[in-house]
Amino acid sequence: MMVMGYEPVIGLEVHAQLLTESKIFCSCSTQFGQPPNSQTCPVCLGMPGVLPVVNKRVVEYAIKTALATNCTIQRFNQFARKNYFYPDLPKGYQISQFELPIATGGFIEIDTESGTRKIGITRIHMEEDAGKLLHEINGGAAENSFVDYNRTGIPLLEIVSEPDIHTPEEAGEYLKALRAILQYLGVCDGNMEQGSFRCDANVSLRPSGERRFGTKVELKNMNSFRHVVRALTYEITRQRELLEYGDSVIQETRLWDENAGQTLPMRGKEESHDYRYFPDPDLVPLYIEDAWIEALRSQLPELPRQRRNRFIDQYGLPLYDADILVTSRQLADYFETAVRSCNQPKTVSNWILSEVLRFLTDPRDIVSFPVTPEHLAQMICLIHNGTISGKIAKKIFEEMRTTGALPSSIVERHGLVQVSDSSKLEKVIQEILDAHPSLVADFRAGKEKVFGFLVGQIMKATKGKANPRMVNDILREKLAG
Ligand code: ADP
Ligand code: MG
Ligand code: ZN
Repeated sequence: MMVMGYEPVIGLEVHAQLLTESKIFCSCSTQFGQPPNSQTCPVCLGMPGVLPVVNKRVVEYAIKTALATNCTIQRFNQFARKNYFYPDLPKGYQISQFELPIATGGFIEIDTESGTRKIGITRIHMEEDAGKLLHEINGGAAENSFVDYNRTGIPLLEIVSEPDIHTPEEAGEYLKALRAILQYLGVCDGNMEQGSFRCDANVSLRPSGERRFGTKVELKNMNSFRHVVRALTYEITRQRELLEYGDSVIQETRLWDENAGQTLPMRGKEESHDYRYFPDPDLVPLYIEDAWIEALRSQLPELPRQRRNRFIDQYGLPLYDADILVTSRQLADYFETAVRSCNQPKTVSNWILSEVLRFLTDPRDIVSFPVTPEHLAQMICLIHNGTISGKIAKKIFEEMRTTGALPSSIVERHGLVQVSDSSKLEKVIQEILDAHPSLVADFRAGKEKVFGFLVGQIMKATKGKANPRMVNDILREKLAG
């Protein structure tokens, strides 16, 4: 995006809920959607005299994320209290990390119009989530407020980017890339709508060529990638108009209102000293040993970008296909399983992109798709060895999808085997030609168009089962006469 005279500067803060079974400092369950306050205990309710104990799995997930985002892992870690008052925070402070976060100085790669770019990761730290307030609204007036502490103490990673992003679209690419990494690692489900992957976007403008940053505004309340892009686009225009009129941007937090399509002021932004951070005396410092890091490194899966590049190299796929196939680890696995049994990578990819994905809202749902990768592969083999035509394959696929049956048994049951017997085909073709003598004459007089019509008639006569290549050859031969 070109903003006349001004360059947008964007930095993103992501809060990712970790997929642990228990909370970060107690053994309460993290299961979503349970009755309010049914998953609480004195620790996560912040009762006096209780002691938090850190969940080892949280630290593991943080280390894996740090490794996958090229960060330096800080061996010496400390939790800190971030003090503020709000009814969803029973202790009056959030346990977070401040001066000694678990990871610093990393990057992830994204694709932009001007090629591959590295977006810096400033820091990653572990913290606990707060509870959830529910406001009962009657006739426009808030009557009662309720608080649900089930979410209190659910582990989060906060992942802060450098202000390296310059367009709303790049911000969207960064979020997609980061979410894919977390999903591949299995540390976060990445569901923005349900709030398990949340993004605050900081944005400022500076005159082109200026090195110092302008005053930033923090945007909240975007719960999809599209909202983030829209909110940033709106905010960049709003700030540019202010600056062009000689006004200044106020440092504040603004909320994105998706229905109104605008950002609205929420509150002035706190400075970190307002939080009176100090080391949490209830939690011992955490020293992370190299052996633990190396053990976790060896468990890292192949990450989305590496996998995409391998798909291009190993299977000769176009970038477009590879990008889509690696959006989820499960989908990429499905593709590779199918290719292992039929070795037709581009055909498998075409079927996945054009037929399979139409039926999935989330590509991770491929694991419960009725057409298994083995069945898809078998069907593709049947096309490849000439048993069925591509057209019949679409019908077979539909039946596989609704019944989960094997393609070979569908073919057998409905007698869908392609007709590749040349004497049979010659007979049918001759009948069609005999029935349309004037068209034959037209063709011989140079009207090539009738060829397609004749092929259509032959296909109709064979219920789509004629081998199209053979029909083509025999028909040409006969017409040539
Ligand atoms: P705060 O303490 O206000 O949260 P941070 O320094 O922690 O600010 O930065 C928060 C996010 O804002 C980071 O992603 C950072 O890259 C980004 N950021 C910092 N300064 C600017 C700026 N002037 N314009 C845009 N983004 C910025
Ligand atoms: Mg911050
Ligand atoms: Zn608890």
